[in-house]
Amino acid sequence: MRNVVIIGSGCAGNTAAIYAARANLKPLVVSGHEAGGQLSLTTLVENFPGFPEGINGPDLIENMRKQAQNFGADYVHGNVLEAHLSKRPFRLNVEGDWVEARTVIVASGAAARWLGLPSEQKLIGHGVSSCATCDGFFYREKKIMVIGGGDSAMEEATFLTRFGREVLLVHRREEFRASKIMLDRARLNPKIKFATNTVVEEIYDVSQNLVTGARLRNLKTGQTWDEPVDGFFVAIGHIPNTAVFHGQIQTDDEGYIISQGGARTNVAGVFHAGDVQDRLYRQAVTASGAGCMAALEAERYLEAEGH
Ligand code: NAP
Repeated sequence: MRNVVIIGSGCAGNTAAIYAARANLKPLVVSGHEAGGQLSLTTLVENFPGFPEGINGPDLIENMRKQAQNFGADYVHGNVLEAHLSKRPFRLNVEGDWVEARTVIVASGAAARWLGLPSEQKLIGHGVSSCATCDGFFYREKKIMVIGGGDSAMEEATFLTRFGREVLLVHRREEFRASKIMLDRARLNPKIKFATNTVVEEIYDVSQNLVTGARLRNLKTGQTWDEPVDGFFVAIGHIPNTAVFHGQIQTDDEGYIISQGGARTNVAGVFHAGDVQDRLYRQAVTASGAGCMAALEAERYLEAEGH
């Protein structure tokens, strides 16, 4: 029987593990198939406090994991395949092995939705990004492409005009899903150009391990062309990793956990941390803060139960 099982090993899960381990709770971290979360997909992180020269995302995650392990946290690789949260102890199927827990911290994150092109996957962290706040700074005076037609795409395109000399927003339809105010703001921005009814067929240049451009196709005319760009930002939404808790933990229509205040979910003893609940900030430092909150709440919960 575990006092705390933490699901996810991004900033939220690792920070929760540091706090829970330091409180002598011997937490078990189920690291997930995308161990390290979104940070493991980035290169230099310049906005995590405490690193004046910046730190590579995978190094930051590795440091956090070591820090948690130094205090006694255990890590197991793999995913939670099944969860029974309706009665105590909670039961989790981790790759076929059942684990029992007094408390659970869900820090399973939200995966960025990608276009699915092989060239895109190969160039993630080398010019392809899903986070303008994280990576926009690297594209000063550069030409940037943003993909998507929702609020995220408008927000990212507008934000990126602070850095880039031009932002080309590419959307597959004529109509936008974005709210009028966000769309209008982007339309009024002289640095943003729009390519609608347009899809990306290929991102260049895998052989250089660097984004140099993209091949686009207009769905109405069938015309294809190469557009030179330095940065390629995909903003077509996120998918919270909550499918395994369906019908047990309360979520909104898109699957994000609905917080009951603090780090609490609707299930007493089950807490949330990070992007799995947060569709707004999605930052490494906010996820870490949320992980800390969840661990403190789990600790208090266990204490109240006499453990
Ligand atoms: P979204 O509203 O679901 O929009 C996703 C966009 O990506 C859509 O335009 C969609 O095109 C496009 N798309 C999806 N899959 C694609 C693919 N395979 N290829 C090309 N395009 C693809 O997602 P979001 O923009 O991330 O917003 C999510 C939620 O957060 C929304 O409720 C939004 O209002 C909210 N949000 C709010 C703010 C804010 O208020 N500051 C900022 C960001 C997000 P189609 O339109 O053709 O389906």
